[in-house]
Amino acid sequence: MNVLLVEDEQKIADFVCEGLRAKNFNVIHCADGHRGYEVASKNTFDVIILDIMLPGRDGLDILRSLRKERIDTPIILLTARNELGDRVQGLEMGADDYLAKPFYVEELNARIQALFRRHGGAQQHLIEAGSLQLDCINRTINCRGQSVELTSREFSLLEYLMRSANQVLTRGQLLEHVWGYDFDPCTNVVDVCIKRIRRKIASLDEAGEMVGAIESVRGTGYRLSSR
Ligand code: CA
Repeated sequence: MNVLLVEDEQKIADFVCEGLRAKNFNVIHCADGHRGYEVASKNTFDVIILDIMLPGRDGLDILRSLRKERIDTPIILLTARNELGDRVQGLEMGADDYLAKPFYVEELNARIQALFRRHGGAQQHLIEAGSLQLDCINRTINCRGQSVELTSREFSLLEYLMRSANQVLTRGQLLEHVWGYDFDPCTNVVDVCIKRIRRKIASLDEAGEMVGAIESVRGTGYRLSSR
């Protein structure tokens, strides 16, 4: 599951990132409002966790813009104890839930799971492409009934390819969506990650049909064929 966290307090950002990554979420963190809005509006997330008081642009302002653009990703607001008015306003403006600071990561996780179920995650949580089946809630991937052991980054990359099956995704799109980079880090992380996924799938897929399913598109990126 892909999570965007927009939070300027480093300590909170650290424990949320660490806690959610330990639960296998792919977490992208932005520390200011402008960047948070940009990343939220250009990418697809399963949930956005949005602090209200932010440098640049505040959380309510970001929420308003996203909803105006009909981006209906579930949003959980993080609020300070004295921001009751903002909380109410936030819910009226289309936030799905809020969590008052301080909170435990388990609490946040429970809210995320509840939101995901409410938003029809139950119908969409299984994605299939060829002989691969991906379960977004349990974060597992099966190939012909055998489970593929992936790291959380590998999982997010494969999930993105499967959700966008038959479309070419550029290295830039993959870097931004899976790693949260908005610049070219001049590394081959994407290619290395793809290589590892292919190897893991190949070890399970004796028929060899899925091995070529993640196609390299020369000079551009990758495409996962659903046939
Ligand atoms: Ca803040």
